[in-house]
Amino acid sequence: MFYKSTRNSNVKVTAAEAISKGISDDGGLFVPEYIPTFSKEDFNELKTLDYIGIAKKVLERYLDDFTEEELDYCLKGAYSGTFDDDEPAPLYKLENGKYILELWHGPTCAFKDLALQLLPYLLTTSAKKVNKGKAVILVATSGDTGKAALEGFCDVENTEIMVFYPNNGVSPMQKLQMDTQKGKNVFVCAINGNFDDAQSSVKTIFTDTKTKEILKQNGMEFSSANSINWGRLVPQIVYYVASYCNLLKDGADLSDGFDIVVPTGNFGNILAAYYAKEMGVPVRRLVCASNANNVLTDFIKTGKYDRNREFFTSVSPSMDILISSNLERMVYHLLGNDAQVSAAYQKSLSENGEYSVSSEVLEKLQALYFGGCCDDEKTLETIKAVYDKYNYLCDTHTAVAVAVAEEYLATEGNNRPVVIASTASPYKFAASVLKAIEPSKCSDDEFLMVKELSAITKTKVPKPIMNLSSATVRFNNVCEKKDIKSVVLKNLGL
Ligand SMILES: *Cc1c(COP(=O)(O)O)cnc(C)c1O
Repeated sequence: MFYKSTRNSNVKVTAAEAISKGISDDGGLFVPEYIPTFSKEDFNELKTLDYIGIAKKVLERYLDDFTEEELDYCLKGAYSGTFDDDEPAPLYKLENGKYILELWHGPTCAFKDLALQLLPYLLTTSAKKVNKGKAVILVATSGDTGKAALEGFCDVENTEIMVFYPNNGVSPMQKLQMDTQKGKNVFVCAINGNFDDAQSSVKTIFTDTKTKEILKQNGMEFSSANSINWGRLVPQIVYYVASYCNLLKDGADLSDGFDIVVPTGNFGNILAAYYAKEMGVPVRRLVCASNANNVLTDFIKTGKYDRNREFFTSVSPSMDILISSNLERMVYHLLGNDAQVSAAYQKSLSENGEYSVSSEVLEKLQALYFGGCCDDEKTLETIKAVYDKYNYLCDTHTAVAVAVAEEYLATEGNNRPVVIASTASPYKFAASVLKAIEPSKCSDDEFLMVKELSAITKTKVPKPIMNLSSATVRFNNVCEKKDIKSVVLKNLGL
């Protein structure tokens, strides 16, 4: 299996090269040259396996340059004993035909853990194969990737990790999680700007030949822990395959397949669901849920991607994004893997902030996806409604997905089971969740609100959140986006 760049059809690399580089030199993203498939017999076998077993079957198809021993080593390290549930991605049944895929049982309480517990193993294994020196991981985060990456890479040999998050663009709990990170190889810095500013500055450094040269002379190379890295996406395919196996085991009526709803920001999570579908999981429709930053909703409705619009900060900050990086991969596939047209779209996006796809591509897009959005008010109403109806507590991001799922079912009604991806623990966004459930108990003390929420709903506070109340703040750096490059070099001692 080789990987191509979404912007240059001449590029062809192995999985290990794609993962250790993170992004192609031309600025494009690595994509598999074909999507492997599972047969009916394969699924009969997959159904009998545990999460690690399913993960191995998925990974061996994409990472065929990894040996069986290497895959076993990576998967055991990532998923044995690191999640608070034996099943890293349990499927919770709200009612017949309506399921919540809980992706927040890892060490940082967001779905990013599913990929970022594994990525450090994939990356260090890849680096050994391609003889790379020290990996310098640069991360731009809208809140959850940063902590999950810090936790995954903390004290991993031969790596250095630096995380940039938007000042005032993350929740107090997310900020505290990052600023208290332990480890010798970690660095955290807020930037004055929003997530898109952080992401574009970091992406510029990746492709800056001069900076790359300086690192090379010092035995280092940049890599990415953002979902632009293929090593982040492939672990995410696994839980959609696993959720299908769990639906089968639950006896769900899958005669017409099922639908998946994903609260979306950078388009990584929902893209993984697309790959699972193409591999043979009987997904009919992918529902892309956005908050007030509804650039994807408009794109799916009209075929025009237009980031020239107001940026909103919302109660679902991990989705406050106007440039969804992974959409580049999806559009490339919709174009029949045409790197030339794909590159032209991305050029137009960076120069004019917009591009429009042909009616043919739009038709294919709409056959696969339904797009919907909801504002903060509706998000909080939904948290309350879900709690009242099902006695189930969901976070602000998951609530966006639930709200859009209802809109989807009301407008395109069908009887298929629906799986809603739940991307974070409600305790990561305690203030907003409490405001939805019992506003009179809100205060400006984050941990008091965590306790109130637990007392009212009789749900358990995850340990990693509990432990934060006594953690020491190690980082309080702030920089301008134009200075990120010098901050990076200085921190590396270059
Ligand atoms: C990152 C994140 C999202 C968005 O996921 P993408 O893969 O970027 O689309 C949604 N919810 C939460 C809680 C997140 O951390």
